[in-house]
Amino acid sequence: MKINKYLFFIKDNLENYDDLLHRLKKEAPFRINIINYKSFKNTRYKNTLKQYNPSNVIIALDINLYKDMQKELLEYLRSVYHCVFTNILLINTTIEFKTDNDTLIGKKHCFFMCNKSKPESNVYNLILYSIKMYNEAVLSNRLVDYITHSFDSIVSSELLKKKKEQIELLNKELEEKNKTDHLTRLFNRQAIFEFLEKESKRTKRDIWRISNMFMENDTVKVSALKGEYDTEPIGDLFDHIGIFSVLMIDVDHFKMINDTHGHLIGDTVLKAIGDLMRKPGVFRESDILGRFGGEEFIGILPGTNVNNALGPAIRFTKALRQIDFRNERDEIFKTTVSIGISEFHPKDTSKEDIIQRADKALYWAKDHGRDQIAIYEKIFK
Ligand code: GH3
Ligand code: MG
Ligand code: MG
Repeated sequence: MKINKYLFFIKDNLENYDDLLHRLKKEAPFRINIINYKSFKNTRYKNTLKQYNPSNVIIALDINLYKDMQKELLEYLRSVYHCVFTNILLINTTIEFKTDNDTLIGKKHCFFMCNKSKPESNVYNLILYSIKMYNEAVLSNRLVDYITHSFDSIVSSELLKKKKEQIELLNKELEEKNKTDHLTRLFNRQAIFEFLEKESKRTKRDIWRISNMFMENDTVKVSALKGEYDTEPIGDLFDHIGIFSVLMIDVDHFKMINDTHGHLIGDTVLKAIGDLMRKPGVFRESDILGRFGGEEFIGILPGTNVNNALGPAIRFTKALRQIDFRNERDEIFKTTVSIGISEFHPKDTSKEDIIQRADKALYWAKDHGRDQIAIYEKIFK
């Protein structure tokens, strides 16, 4: 029973060993084809070779013959296996064999076949040598497989990394989207709460810094700025630093707009209010503007106390009054808002405190006739 391994013996130059090769063919535990180089290269053999795993194949040839055709043979085997084929056994029949730098693949396997030895011992040794080669080929193939797989997993981990980066980017975009109200393009309620938290913390830090900064030489710094302004800045530091205000804006009788003109027209009103809040010159660029929900809007005005917050609130209500809304019959209608304002109190324990105060002022404005601005700190103290 022959094992599933193949030795292709290229007999050119080995004619004197015909007898030995035929003995080998009989005795070797693997399949042996004895062929000449020309027929070895024909299509039939090419197809035969292709079917076998290269670690199960040995190509044996005379070392001298090999010198003439090494490139051609290597190319041929490479075209069959699509990789460098290394399982080549060089049969040396002449003693004066010299190593040569450009011999095949570093001339790893070279078997000396002695004319004078007994044919049995030549056959026996050749069989042993071939088996050793097959075993080495299996091992080296396993190594190549291992390296290839390791490489594959490195590549796939690179891919995973890339995919992860893409997912992170998408998540970021999604997060950006999640911070925006789709109808008005203002920040949504969740984003507003995050901004409030940050603004509260920032303001508290500013207050702490201010309380630590009143040192003797500050008057020197200020006097150095004298004459710097055409009209000197008015108001004190605490009007601008260590403070922020919140405006709660609620559309008056918005339900009536929906009921009279339909929900879609109601939407265009909300959208126009969003556009107006973003319009340059109404609020400051650093103001944080959001839709708090439904027909309620919110503005966080950093570095602004209630007195100064009144300015943008008035600008906004005035500008809103200028807008002519149109219903589906192209009839013009107007809308107004009520606004409640409150400023940050250093003793606030939660970010909702300021919202509750602004809301309270807003409902005071609603209760007192709508279309007006109410400041919590003025009304409730
Ligand atoms: P008030 O002057 O007291 O604020 O009265 P109002 O009608 O504005 O307030 P109310 O809370 O009674 O009604 C708010 C309405 O806003 C009800 C709700 O259907 C409508 N609304 C909320 N979100 C949207 C929206 O996205 N689009 C439209 N078209 N309407 C909305
Ligand atoms: Mg409301
Ligand atoms: Mg309303």
